[in-house]
Amino acid sequence: MADSTDKTLFSRIADGEIPADILHRDDHCLVIKDIAPQAPTHLLVIPIKPIPRLVDASAEDRELLGHLLLVAGDIARQAGCDEAFRLVINNGAGAGQTVFHLHLHILGNAKFNEASLLG
Ligand code: 5GP
Repeated sequence: MADSTDKTLFSRIADGEIPADILHRDDHCLVIKDIAPQAPTHLLVIPIKPIPRLVDASAEDRELLGHLLLVAGDIARQAGCDEAFRLVINNGAGAGQTVFHLHLHILGNAKFNEASLLG
C-alpha cells in the first residue's frame, strides 16, 4: 500500500497533509496559490489525478484536460485577470518543471512582454 512518501507534493496538498491557499476544489482538480509567485496573480490548477507530465496524459484524460482549461478560465475571471493572463505548463525538467504532477500556471495581473512567450 502506498504511504505518503509515495505521493506527489500536490497530492499531499490535495489530501490536506500540506497546507496551501486553496481557491477552488471540485471532484477533478484544485486551484491553489503558488508559494513563490512570479506574478501578482500566480495560481496553479492541479488535477487530483497525479499525471506526472502533460506528455504522460492519454486519451482517457481528454475530459479532464478540458476541465482544467475551463476551470483556469473561470478562476482567471474570478481573479480579475481574464482580459490578460498566461497559462503555462512546464513539461519536463529541461523546461523548468520541478513538481512532477501536472499543473497549469495561471499568471495574471502582470506586465507581460507581449513580444515574447519566454519572458
Ligand atoms: P513547475 O516548476 O513544476 O512548473 O512549478 C511548480 C510550482 O509549484 C512552482 O511555481 C513552485 O513555486 C510551486 N510550489 C512548490 N512547492 C509548493 C508548495 O509547497 N506549495 C505551493 N502552494 N506551491 C508550491
